[in-house]
Amino acid sequence: MQTGSIGVKTENIFPVIKKFLYSENEIFLREIVSNAVDATNKLKTLASAGEFKGELGDLTIKVEIDKQKKTLTIRDNGIGMTSEEVDKYINQIAFSGATEFVEKFKTQTEAEAANIIGHFGLGFYSSFMVSNKVALITKSFRQADDEKGVIWECDGSPEYTMNEIAKGTRGTDVILYIADDCADFLEESKIRELLNKYCKFLSVPIQFGMKTVNEPIEGETDENGNPKTKSVEKPWIINDVAPLWKKSPSSIEDKEYDDFYHVLYPMNFETPLFHIHLNVDYPFNLTGILYFPKIKNRYEFQRNKIQLYCNEVFVTDSVEGILPEFLSMLHGVIDSPDIPLNVSRSFLQNDQNVKKISGYITKKVAEKLEELFKKDRAEYEKKWDDISVFIQYGMIADPKFFERAEKFMLFKDTEGKYYTIEEYKKLIEENQKNKDNKLVYLYATDADEQYNNIENAKNKGYNVLLMDGILDSHLMSTLEQKFGDCSFARVDSASIDKLIDKEGDAKESKLSDEQKENIKKAFEEVIDKTTYNVEFSSLGEDDDPVEVIQNEWMRRMKEMSAMNGMSMWGTMPDSYTLMLNVNNPVVAGLVDKSEEEQKNIIKNLYDLARLSKNLLKGKDLSEFVKREFRKN
Ligand code: ADP
Repeated sequence: MQTGSIGVKTENIFPVIKKFLYSENEIFLREIVSNAVDATNKLKTLASAGEFKGELGDLTIKVEIDKQKKTLTIRDNGIGMTSEEVDKYINQIAFSGATEFVEKFKTQTEAEAANIIGHFGLGFYSSFMVSNKVALITKSFRQADDEKGVIWECDGSPEYTMNEIAKGTRGTDVILYIADDCADFLEESKIRELLNKYCKFLSVPIQFGMKTVNEPIEGETDENGNPKTKSVEKPWIINDVAPLWKKSPSSIEDKEYDDFYHVLYPMNFETPLFHIHLNVDYPFNLTGILYFPKIKNRYEFQRNKIQLYCNEVFVTDSVEGILPEFLSMLHGVIDSPDIPLNVSRSFLQNDQNVKKISGYITKKVAEKLEELFKKDRAEYEKKWDDISVFIQYGMIADPKFFERAEKFMLFKDTEGKYYTIEEYKKLIEENQKNKDNKLVYLYATDADEQYNNIENAKNKGYNVLLMDGILDSHLMSTLEQKFGDCSFARVDSASIDKLIDKEGDAKESKLSDEQKENIKKAFEEVIDKTTYNVEFSSLGEDDDPVEVIQNEWMRRMKEMSAMNGMSMWGTMPDSYTLMLNVNNPVVAGLVDKSEEEQKNIIKNLYDLARLSKNLLKGKDLSEFVKREFRKN
């Protein structure tokens, strides 16, 4: 019998391991099972290199619960270890790795520790997070059948014991004596859930329990001629050893991609719009499949749906820090051994590999979109409303993506027609420029609410875009910055002749400055001055006497900050301008009226203007309606 102190240090790290990451102690299973998979794959590699000449036999890894003994066992038929190897790998290398890991993070708070990506590095010793005692029984593939194996045991103090033990077959059993406060790891449902979460795509079959299946009985049929079946117990293999993302894209049918989507997201019944198969091995290694879900005009789209794997081992479904935020709107899997997994997320953003990886994925996504756009424009237009939020988000957030997306971003006008940026510029170039020779993109955010203004603009030969998306205000600001010589203006943000003015200022004013000043004063007696102010325009006689206008810039600022959850602009009261058309006879006629008459007319104009913009509410609305009823 050999006893000894683990590692070179005598410091007891076990209490720290036990407390460490308590909230995520379930990762122990991932660590132990993936060690078993590694040991099995190593044996396969040795066999194919001719270094192992024996029978491989059944390589299935077995996970077993013994409730009586309170143990959880993970068995493999992999390469196993000799006692020297146990000493080297378990007592020294693995231990110093675990010590280093604990040292690195033990000064951190639980929240900081939880911020570390995959908690990789604790390895074999993570088993002590849930166990009072761990035993490892192993025998190397190099040993003869009649040779003894070795049993290593440790009860969570730095002292371990190692003894010879009879073991028939090669491979390793890791036996965890589950601590009382972790008893849920002795529940079948819990272990099945964890295997399903972390090990679903590992490359060696993993058996947990038995499954009842119906099998046809040979030669026997029922009265309808269908084969009779019997229930049989079969080993329950929990994993798919050849996940779709590892296969060559050319050999995969579209339907397989859709089916795989439902394997990844069993609770999601929608079919994705399209997919992108990622496959690169230089300068970093990465495989995966990304799916475009229907995003529609929702902002509460589900994020963190992308599952991150490292060599088929599930790591996390929170890709924050690894992928740019706009990409996290996608679904799917990414598998890369080149993403550092034992660092904090804030560190990741500056990691060169991570930068390259997210750059690569962004590029692939843009290429796919461009391909879809070029291949079948009509089909792309049909999908546009479902993918626009994603593309707009990318354009706002990522200048590189913007450059690429300029080619396939679409504008939709109020007639439902789609244009690329270039096409749209051409369309309005001639007709929609303002005094400063800037292109004016007219738009509406609500086709019903702004109906009047839209019609008015159309009648004058202008095109009006529909910008009713959640990110449109942001996008417009981005486009204005990038294009430089353009501005977006909602159709009702000023009178249309002011927005687009080719012939200089409109008609001459019928009123003198003094008359205007008097009218303004009279209005200010009636209106709510905290919300409305008065300005004048000189339109045609037939144009409306008064229009409510909201400053484009102010409105957009408010919209953007409301979406960002910022309070500064969001809590600013709304403010509007009452634009009085001095050439309209009703306004012009005010100068000859008595004070009493003026007041009544103004009240009516003010109410009607607000009514047309859905701004007349509460008491004001009710009084207006009563007044109108009385007129009949
Ligand atoms: P890592 O797997 O990252 O190397 P671990 O602490 O998990 O670190 O394991 C340390 C070493 O112990 C492994 O590299 C391997 O050599 C050995 N080992 C662990 N589990 C097994 C196993 N089931 N079969 C054979 N060797 C194993």
